[in-house]
Amino acid sequence: MAVETKTTCPYCGVGCGVIARVDDDGAVSVKGDPDHPANLGRLCSKGSALAETIDLDGRLLHPEIDGRRAGWDEALDRVVQRFSAVITEHGPDAVAFYVSGQLLTEDYYVANKLMKGFIGSANIDTNSRLCMSSSVAGHRRAFGSDTVPGCYEDLELADLVVLTGSNLAWCHPVLYQRLAAAKAARPGMKVVVIDPRRTMTADIADLHLAIRPDGDVALFNGLLAHLAKTTAIDENYLAAHTEGFGEAFAAASGMSFPELMDRTGLGASELRQFFGLFERTEKTVTCYSQGVNQSSSGTDKVNAILNCHLATGRIGRPGMGPFSLTGQPNAMGGREVGGLANMLAAHMAIENAEDRDRVQRFWGSPTIADRPGLKAVDLFEAVAEGSIKALWIMATNPVVSMPDADAVEAAIKACPFVVVSDVLKTTDTARHAHVLLPSLGWGEKDGTVTNSERRISRQRSVLPAPGEARADWWQLSEVARRMDFSGFDYRSPAEVFDEHAALSAFENDGSRDFDIGDYAGLDREIYETLAPFQWPAPLNGSKAPASNPPLGGTKPDSARRFFANGGFYHPGGRARFVAVTPAETDRTNAEYPFTLNTGRIRDQWHTMTRTGKSARLSSHIAEPYAELHPRDAIDIGVGNAGLIEIASPHGKAIVRALITQRQARGNIFVPMHWNDQFAAKARVDALVPPLTDKFSGQPASKNVAVSARPF
Ligand code: SF4
Repeated sequence: MAVETKTTCPYCGVGCGVIARVDDDGAVSVKGDPDHPANLGRLCSKGSALAETIDLDGRLLHPEIDGRRAGWDEALDRVVQRFSAVITEHGPDAVAFYVSGQLLTEDYYVANKLMKGFIGSANIDTNSRLCMSSSVAGHRRAFGSDTVPGCYEDLELADLVVLTGSNLAWCHPVLYQRLAAAKAARPGMKVVVIDPRRTMTADIADLHLAIRPDGDVALFNGLLAHLAKTTAIDENYLAAHTEGFGEAFAAASGMSFPELMDRTGLGASELRQFFGLFERTEKTVTCYSQGVNQSSSGTDKVNAILNCHLATGRIGRPGMGPFSLTGQPNAMGGREVGGLANMLAAHMAIENAEDRDRVQRFWGSPTIADRPGLKAVDLFEAVAEGSIKALWIMATNPVVSMPDADAVEAAIKACPFVVVSDVLKTTDTARHAHVLLPSLGWGEKDGTVTNSERRISRQRSVLPAPGEARADWWQLSEVARRMDFSGFDYRSPAEVFDEHAALSAFENDGSRDFDIGDYAGLDREIYETLAPFQWPAPLNGSKAPASNPPLGGTKPDSARRFFANGGFYHPGGRARFVAVTPAETDRTNAEYPFTLNTGRIRDQWHTMTRTGKSARLSSHIAEPYAELHPRDAIDIGVGNAGLIEIASPHGKAIVRALITQRQARGNIFVPMHWNDQFAAKARVDALVPPLTDKFSGQPASKNVAVSARPF
């Protein structure tokens, strides 16, 4: 008899519920889960094609050591032996984990616990560093915690939705569908899209602002200065719940209007239209994504946006608030367990001695990392320099996705000991591994993920583990046990989740935002049937928080929000305005006269290791390409579909020209997906310099100076 299982899509941060059906003959099909609050039955093209990506072609089905088949015992012993030898000889900071927003929360939790509490280093960073770490830093500066205040329903309730640095139509398609449906039902709703390109998202925009790359701080500073002259400022909210408005206003108002036009590349009437819309519309949501985060000024951009919402008190109430849209399926879950090198578990701070002591006591660990570890770019530079001598990479493909990707590949190649845990045998990264560990893929693994609106959902296994593949939390626990560490005797992801939930509530008097303590101590059956729930999950003693579904239930819950009545997490409970000033952003010169922006396309995911298996998905856009303006195409002498070589001081890529008026002059867009197996010499991240935001360490994957010529 066919079996249907409720699970969650493994791609973007929308976190859609999926019903996976396995027929008697083993055939798998998927449909959207109508009960899941994120998507209410919808799926996008990627989610709909999940069943086309789960075959065993190219799968890593057993451990390997130096290219030969090995048993688990031998492979794990090798990992332990080499890591232990490096730690003994060079100290704990000579090893590192590079993990992923593709991991489930349970995997992420064990990795973080092992590295920070037992090995004693914070050298665990994640590809989420490339995704949303500037939002984390911005939230912490403004709110005192990494809290996303709103929920998806706000996009439907808003009268104005501002999308900045977000191609929602392609990168968060189901959320875009929800927004488009809401706008169709309520045409008075306005949408503003701020993006150098006129993307598909702009098709529903009332106003498209083709901003200069990295012009966002100037734009939102200009908005704050404008709002301060109007009645849109919420004086009561400012006085009761915030501090630092004066300094932020002074920084924001130091720019003349002509200077604002110059820095943003926008006309006077466009700016006035946007400012007027924002001023007049109380129910405003500002969504931001990688166009904001992936910048050398990403954190300042985030705070420039948050400043405008704090100044108007438009935060945490239905239909209003700033909203960071995470790229990955579990970037938020990673944040909850402290998966970034500068965080501790359960939203505690590694710099805070009390937090470190609390986590160490909870874990009963022999040590605790007492300072932030290396962030992604620095981590791979340390590998290149030789100070990291053993590296474990899980569920990610940095040879394609890291900035300065050729240098990252050289570093991994030269590293004395590299472990890769993955589902595929031959990714661009896996081919440099000394030990390969076969992991479970979507449909096989079991655990939880958290989406952009802080909703925790179960991913469930519907298929047996293929070959000898095992869960990542199991691999990590086995290594920990073989290093003689106690506290890793987990028999299931449910036991890991239980510990994670208990830690969130441990000595938490309400001073920490992340608390899912009601979900600790669930019996196994409830964990298995756990319905999606959103935090905050208040401790009301009933094990069934009022606005969340009964444990084990299936009905959607109502939306939950933070900060409508203040209650921020800085000492004193006030939010902080951050005074920000725009940095110089034009990086072009005579040799590299174009500005490259990288990003996603609708039907591929990350480095195509999974979506590349679906012919249907690849038929949307079959080849890597560069979008450029017709006048720029004439200037460099390339015709539509002609090959062009794009180069920076760091690398080159050869792609097809797509000539379109949607692109702003002087700008080139190239997707980030193609790996060497699908298209030689199209790894666009090889061109991106290792330039990072000074607060978050997030790389600037946009605004790269490049040259372009026919190939
Ligand atoms: Fe999956 Fe995102 Fe598409 Fe939803 S919108 S089906 S989570 S890729």
